[in-house]
Amino acid sequence: MHASSVYNFAAGPGVMPREVLLEAQRELLDCRRSGMSILEMPFTGAEFQNIADQARRDLRELLELPPHYHVLFLPGGASTQFSLLPMNLLPPDGRADYVDTGHWSRKAIAEARRYVSVNVAASGAQHGYSRLPCRRYWQLDPQAGYCHITSNETADGLAYHRLPDTRGVPLVADMTSDFLSRPLDVERFGVIYAGAQKNVGPAGLTLVIIRDDLLQTAWPACPAALSYRVQIDSDNRFNTPPIQAIYLAGLVFRWLRSQGGLKAMAARNRRKSEALYSYIDASDFYACDRQVADRSRMNVCFHLAVPTLTAEFVEQARCQGLLNLQGHPAVGGLRASLYNAMSEAGVDALIAFMETFAARHGR
Ligand code: PLP
Repeated sequence: MHASSVYNFAAGPGVMPREVLLEAQRELLDCRRSGMSILEMPFTGAEFQNIADQARRDLRELLELPPHYHVLFLPGGASTQFSLLPMNLLPPDGRADYVDTGHWSRKAIAEARRYVSVNVAASGAQHGYSRLPCRRYWQLDPQAGYCHITSNETADGLAYHRLPDTRGVPLVADMTSDFLSRPLDVERFGVIYAGAQKNVGPAGLTLVIIRDDLLQTAWPACPAALSYRVQIDSDNRFNTPPIQAIYLAGLVFRWLRSQGGLKAMAARNRRKSEALYSYIDASDFYACDRQVADRSRMNVCFHLAVPTLTAEFVEQARCQGLLNLQGHPAVGGLRASLYNAMSEAGVDALIAFMETFAARHGR
């Protein structure tokens, strides 16, 4: 199968803009005419510093980030932040609110519980995670140091389209799977963090955006290299940063700017997901049981009316170049991830395949 003839619907790592991969390939041996590969560049040198500064500037511009927010590029993936958040934001006897909306918020809750006292302010469990918990019934702890949400549940296909009011408690969001997919009202957040492997690219890199007044000295047990304060005080160069990942992220930020920024992404992501949800809702062969108002624009979870055909659907789609449509193992069913780099042509091709598959099975 040739790369130019496939559409990759993987949930993560997800599809990357082809232009970015081509540029990274072109520059692999000689990055920005330095005579060095990005893999060989000293992180303290001017060449890499320019690359990192440009990436940071582009990201700030894309998000219209106010000056009192810091940006960190950290290693370790989003799961590492599940532990680092309490250690960086709370005292050892601290308390935090968490909202349970599915697979990834449950993971964040389990990890935070190892460190601090966690109040699950609301949970979607009673509705089988088919919708976000109704805000009227959230039970926030007025003493909580922060309230954590998962803005897009990658495995369950749910997303916040309106931010909650946490009554003065700083809002912390795991934005791993919808970061940079739409404009953000950053001032509503205390901390935003995101594993890069969906809309930014290289797995292992995590972006952390933190409001200045929340910075404090991390717990003594927190590795210095993973302390927000230490990294900010050392200009994100306390130790060797994930250089190649930052370089690739910078290329993606530039690509996003060339595409019209986050407003353009949001409009395109809306068109792609609406096309697919509309087709599914109109069909009696496919179904999506997520509440319409809470459906993710990044991860469209659906299933077949005849679940025994699921494996055949995934395999036949793969043969047509439509890759990685199986649902998350913990959730089952099917899932099409429509990250920024998925084209509208990709979604059209998926819908055309779904029509043919349904017709072949008598619908
Ligand atoms: N949070 C969300 C919403 C995710 O989708 C994922 C991974 O897909 C993670 C956290 C975990 O990220 P990582 O594998 O980088 O630790």
